[in-house]
Amino acid sequence: MATLALRDLVKTFDKTEVLHSISLDVEDGEFVVFVGPSGCGKSTTLRMIAGLEEVTSGTVSIGGKVVNNLEPKDRDIAMVFQNYAIYPHLSVRRNIAFGLRTSKMSKADKEKRIEEVAGILGMTEYLDRRPNQLSGGQRQRVAIGRAMVRDPAVFLFDEPLSNLDAQLRTQMRLEIKKLHKQVGNTIVFVTHDQVEAMTMADRIVIMKDGHIQQIGTPAEVYHHPANSFVAQFIGAPA
Ligand code: ADP
Ligand code: MG
Repeated sequence: MATLALRDLVKTFDKTEVLHSISLDVEDGEFVVFVGPSGCGKSTTLRMIAGLEEVTSGTVSIGGKVVNNLEPKDRDIAMVFQNYAIYPHLSVRRNIAFGLRTSKMSKADKEKRIEEVAGILGMTEYLDRRPNQLSGGQRQRVAIGRAMVRDPAVFLFDEPLSNLDAQLRTQMRLEIKKLHKQVGNTIVFVTHDQVEAMTMADRIVIMKDGHIQQIGTPAEVYHHPANSFVAQFIGAPA
């Protein structure tokens, strides 16, 4: 059974259809990357999965259950945004704890879980620091930590690396890949960057103008592009 299933998802804003029948199954532990030019509908798709945007028609299922009518907090997901808003006045520990604010865990279990996540992210020594005492990469890890701490079935990333400089972006790609291998969560990652998509994905979903152009492994879309848009976008020989 797919961990995440999208069936004929449609989104209309003010009578304009911006997403046209998006369907996809994401298997447990899979790392799927949505890639396409700005405005093609990547964020809207992610926001519908998260419950931040109403679905016009179609269904979003998580763990085999349709979640269209569930609040974001009642969906087994966590989201990391481009402007990973972490709280400047809170310590790393409290920022990560924010991810557990609706959890019913005991205080002691929460503290244990926070320490565990900090360990996985290599942030144990920084738990009592404030964000302004951290590097850009460390701040990014705090944002990821806040999402991870609840151990969601599905992680949603919306261009989380776009605001980082080139060197840090490459480093964070590797870190997120490593984290995925270690933790094994299901990830849906959105980017407009082809290289990022090709290097990180188990499977790529290539979008244009609210339509899926192709779904496949990086090798499949590179060697067998479905159309000239895909070939050009991926930079494959046409
Ligand atoms: P991407 O993330 O791929 O850049 P988006 O999902 O943000 O694309 O946007 C897809 C399309 O939907 C764009 O044409 C955008 O202008 C439109 N759109 C997104 N959000 C809204 C909104 N709240 N109201 C009206 N149109 C929107
Ligand atoms: Mg976007």
